[in-house]
Amino acid sequence: MTSAAPVPGKIGFIGLGKMGDPMARRLAAAGFRLVVADADRSRATRFVSGNADAAQGSVADIGRKCGIVITMLPDGKAVREVVLGEAGAPGESLAAGLPPGSVLIDMSSSSPVGTRELGKILSGRGVALLDAPVSGGVRKAQEGALSIMVGGDAATVERCKGVLSAMGRQIFPTGPLGTGHAMKALNNYVSAAGLIAASEAVMAGERFGLDPAVVVDILNASSGKNNSTENKFRPFILSRAFSSGFSLGLMAKDIRIAMEVAEAAGTPAPLGHRCMEVLNEAEGKLGGNSDHTEVIRYLEGIVAAPGRE
Ligand code: NAD
Repeated sequence: MTSAAPVPGKIGFIGLGKMGDPMARRLAAAGFRLVVADADRSRATRFVSGNADAAQGSVADIGRKCGIVITMLPDGKAVREVVLGEAGAPGESLAAGLPPGSVLIDMSSSSPVGTRELGKILSGRGVALLDAPVSGGVRKAQEGALSIMVGGDAATVERCKGVLSAMGRQIFPTGPLGTGHAMKALNNYVSAAGLIAASEAVMAGERFGLDPAVVVDILNASSGKNNSTENKFRPFILSRAFSSGFSLGLMAKDIRIAMEVAEAAGTPAPLGHRCMEVLNEAEGKLGGNSDHTEVIRYLEGIVAAPGRE
């Protein structure tokens, strides 16, 4: 371990899950030298074995070695634990290693309220925080074609553009810290509402005697189409593969955050609250690790089809 100043061009990457692993691979392919970590050490070991220029390190080690550190963790609570060491070992936290002038980019879908709190703590130590959540799923992460919405200080966003561009095709500065996370949660609320509405329509159509594949084709040629009807129904739902790579637990978390945002903004969101209840109930029934497209299995179970038990 070393306490040397951060090496320009070295990027820390914490969280090599379904999204983090392909995102980090894009950074490595763009020539960035990475130091990586994951609570599941086998993921970091696998990453390093496939990327000659990458190294594995503890989170504090990453803080000491890297001027820019990216987190791609399940939620803001996990980010805070890693950054501040709230899990019990503050000496081993990322913040313990990060010198003034470094940048933390939280690309997880975290709560913007927690992000602003964390930003205040880090700015007291001279560390800048950007919230840069992504949309596009595993496939776009593999292609380096994510949409990235970035909140935070404009000069810091500019400084990190090269890093973000290696992972995303469209980079949207959204304003002050927290606005990227707020935007991401609101996007996922709209996406979840579209998925639930289409699931209800396909189920009702099928039980009324329509072929569900025909229902999806007609929606896609008509005004009812949305991202779920176009990109999720055939590959993941009608096929019963349920393998989109985005978990039900993470989607339910995102809608809870979106409702926090609506509440903080004093905005009514009756449909959003109903979607949140549906997703929370589905998560309770099917488990958070189920695929989010399995929400239709929950809906199918609420009222069995006539003649089915
Ligand atoms: P994932 O569960 O596959 O990966 C999370 C990774 O974080 C895992 O490898 C886990 O071991 C690691 N981790 C958890 N706690 C940790 C800790 N304390 N220290 C170090 N590592 C830790 O999740 P994912 O699907 O990759 O999603 C990551 C984030 O991206 C989430 O916020 C999610 O909402 C968001 N997101 C996911 C998708 C998708 O399609 N999967 C799309 C857009 C955004």
